[in-house]
Amino acid sequence: AVDRELAADTAEGGTSDGHPVMLLANIGTAEDAERVALPGVEGVGLFRTEVLFLGRATAPTLDEQAATYERVLRAFGDRKVVVRTLDAGADKPLAFATQADEENPALGVRGYRLVRTMPELLDTQLAALARAQEATGTAPWVMAPMVATAQEARAFAERARGHGIRTVGVMVEVPAAALRAREVLAEVDFVSLGTNDLAQYAMATDRLRGELADLLDPWQPAVLDLVAATARAGTELGKPVGVCGESAGDPLMALVLTGLGVTSLSMSAGALPAARHMLRRHSLATCRQAAERALAAPSATEARAAVLELVDPAL
Ligand code: PEP
Ligand code: MG
Repeated sequence: AVDRELAADTAEGGTSDGHPVMLLANIGTAEDAERVALPGVEGVGLFRTEVLFLGRATAPTLDEQAATYERVLRAFGDRKVVVRTLDAGADKPLAFATQADEENPALGVRGYRLVRTMPELLDTQLAALARAQEATGTAPWVMAPMVATAQEARAFAERARGHGIRTVGVMVEVPAAALRAREVLAEVDFVSLGTNDLAQYAMATDRLRGELADLLDPWQPAVLDLVAATARAGTELGKPVGVCGESAGDPLMALVLTGLGVTSLSMSAGALPAARHMLRRHSLATCRQAAERALAAPSATEARAAVLELVDPAL
């Protein structure tokens, strides 16, 4: 039913008064790309490339990676595709790239930090992406996960551009990067908020521990503050700020994020129709009011309730 809706409802995402919000899909494989490249999907906001690396003894070769990236780019034609470089470590362990002796893997050599110990992994991946870009004539947006500083953002941008990647970004999923979003964003073309890890690190709460879900809530005031600071930096610098964590797929949160100045929302394809309906029933002014109310609330529960009061009762 969702597929039918995504095939039929091809309107671009945005508020009732025409403020655009790109509605993008999260994918993990080339098969995902081919399955969700429906007319109502504006592109890919997060291609989790680690799926290609999982369960193997060695990394996929440059040729194999290039073939996969090419398939993903071809599936989406001239639509936007944001590719995330390998995010190994912590909750995504890889046999050949994870240090066995880490006591705190979530705080260890994971994500972009792998460049310190295995730079060839990132270079091969960037070369494969550049080759796919050449072959298809479409330029992927390429971003690194788990970046904490503006210096790392700069180093990644230089490396990616050195390989011929044209549009370079980083994920904001470490509180340090959100607090310094202006400086981080100054080094790259765009950022994407990973609210899953951002909540984990801001709240010092393991994202895999179900019994702590109330602390991990992206509606927590402290998490919303970090999202707001990042969105504000994007507005000031005139650069795109997306959200690709699970919270992007919460229709109420979509109103808040839009009000904060987020420019795209990426979620599992199945969540797109509900987000699109919610946005198109509310104006940008209402989204801004939702953002103000959420930020002013003293708790996650009260933030949700305050925004819910603004929602068109017909929904
Ligand atoms: C996130 O951390 O919010 C994110 C989108 O990345 P992942 O869930 O793959 O860590
Ligand atoms: Mg993450």
